[in-house]
Amino acid sequence: MKQQRPAFPIQLDSLSGGQPKSKPVAAPPRPAVKALPVPTKGQGLTPSPRQGLGMDSAAVRARMVQKLAQGGIQDAVVLQAMGAVERHRFVETALVNQAYEDTSLPIGLGQTISKPNVVARMLALLREGASGQLGRVLEIGTGCGYQAAVLSHMASEVYSMERLKGLHEKARDNLRTFRLHNVHLLLGDGMAGFAKGAPYAAIIAAAGGHNIPQPWLDQLAIGGRLVAPMVTPAGHQALVVVDKTAQGFQQQVLENVHFVPLKSGIS
Ligand code: SAH
Repeated sequence: MKQQRPAFPIQLDSLSGGQPKSKPVAAPPRPAVKALPVPTKGQGLTPSPRQGLGMDSAAVRARMVQKLAQGGIQDAVVLQAMGAVERHRFVETALVNQAYEDTSLPIGLGQTISKPNVVARMLALLREGASGQLGRVLEIGTGCGYQAAVLSHMASEVYSMERLKGLHEKARDNLRTFRLHNVHLLLGDGMAGFAKGAPYAAIIAAAGGHNIPQPWLDQLAIGGRLVAPMVTPAGHQALVVVDKTAQGFQQQVLENVHFVPLKSGIS
């Protein structure tokens, strides 16, 4: 795996100074975060209308998992979680036949669901950092809810934030049938993180900005790991891994990626 250690300071201000800074983030006032847990027992029993997969979806998923393994994903827990979640239930009917291909797909409002390969890679990095079972995880960018569903198989609690109301609601609808009691969907600006759930064993972002927001660094547990896309000074996006230790932060910049931009505010 290609691992560059860049010579440039990549705007992770507090990464260079050892101890995490607790300086407040300069940002406009943010709307309150509205928690919207996935419905519990007795609700959400309606089967998804998207059942148009002409093949046995378990077999197609098994093939996807096999390809992920061949492509270098070795973590059995990640592979099992990817094999368990029915990705075709998260995409539009017209795209169902592409649901298990290694491709990103539109999910509405100009956003995309990441390629399975990228999802698996990021989740494997998260688990590697936490060396095993994940506790509480914060996900920035719920989108259609697919990755949150995969995470629910690997973590004790998943807090997933989305800034677009339309997608937050779509994720809630998508997840209803799965009845995942450890997934908490939050409508809010993920750049502020979600302090109430902190500290997090892991933080994962599906949208990339020009820096790593300070609240993410603050809300990460000591021993925790953050995986996020970030725009580098060279102008492309790369996957960044940040480990928080008692001595400070350690970062790695990995392969180039293509995620939607991290934006502030909700709409
Ligand atoms: N993990 C998602 C992928 C979603 S794409 C899935 O499985 O479908 C990234 C998402 O990040 C988009 O829905 C976008 O609206 C959201 N996003 C961008 N900036 C954000 C922010 N500041 N807070 C919360 N969500 C944000």
